[in-house]
Amino acid sequence: MATLEIKNLHAEVADEDGETILRGVDLEVNSGEIHALMGPNGSGKSTTAKIIAGHPAYRVTDGDIILHLDEDDLADIDEDLDEEDYRWSLLELEPNERAALGIFLGFQYPAEIEGVTMTNFLRQALNAKLGERQELFEDEDEDAEEEEAGYETSPMEGPVDDGEVGVAEFQQLLKEKMELLDMDEKFARRYLNAGFSGGEKKQNEVLQAAILEPSIAVLDEIDSGLDIDRLQDVSEGINALRDEQGTGILQITHYQRILDYVEPDHVHIMLDGRIVKSGDASLASQLEDKGYDWVREEVYETA
Ligand code: ADP
Ligand code: MG
Ligand code: MG
Repeated sequence: MATLEIKNLHAEVADEDGETILRGVDLEVNSGEIHALMGPNGSGKSTTAKIIAGHPAYRVTDGDIILHLDEDDLADIDEDLDEEDYRWSLLELEPNERAALGIFLGFQYPAEIEGVTMTNFLRQALNAKLGERQELFEDEDEDAEEEEAGYETSPMEGPVDDGEVGVAEFQQLLKEKMELLDMDEKFARRYLNAGFSGGEKKQNEVLQAAILEPSIAVLDEIDSGLDIDRLQDVSEGINALRDEQGTGILQITHYQRILDYVEPDHVHIMLDGRIVKSGDASLASQLEDKGYDWVREEVYETA
């Protein structure tokens, strides 16, 4: 089981002014759980997501983000890892290393890339992750041995086992994942995001998470601008990530609406850079009825 543990996270904008944005965020997400992170605009939700992924626009001034993995999460790594190796501070890792350990951050607005099909894009993304993962756990002696044996440079065979997922194998994987998400196969042949509707882009995001099989996925406002049908499709996809892959989901949303379809185990309300209230799914319904003002009043009336 994987756990993402955010502890007393303080962060500021990484410029000269260094405006403080996060003022002590505490949050723990386990694989298999859905957490909704809610809050008014400007409260620091997206900043939290970006810092988890390692966005360079922010400086962490206090606290930590720890990823805990167990031997199941590391079953593809064929080394005996020491117990102490199962724990990483994400703050010490590059964004691609975080991804390789199983953190997925969906992008609010994925880019259009001309001439790249969804299939190729997804295969590249998966191979990039697997390659980085291999590198992260590779021990240096083995590296040196391989180099000596000339594996890397053999002109006839290329790398002996580069761990890449080939075209045919990937087609099979993609087919399974698209079935899991109940997506049309035609989708995969289209060019990346070109002419995709807002809703289709969001579905791509879920498909990407299904392919990469992260331990923890952070989905930032995946519900924004979706009509009700597409919202249901995307929600079913998110539920499938949790139910079929055991992914832990940090679902960032301003509105309660998506939580009718993706029922969170835990709901957290962020206000002015802190989580000020946590509860179960009923907390989200309270927000729908009463908005965020009552939370603000409750938090600040004692001050
Ligand atoms: P939310 O996602 O909850 O709406 P954000 O995390 O995007 O909020 O932003 C929180 C606050 O931090 C906002 O006031 C926003 O303007 C500010 N902020 C976020 N990122 C930056 C940045 N890179 N530079 C300056 N201000 C920022
Ligand atoms: Mg713990
Ligand atoms: Mg935001």
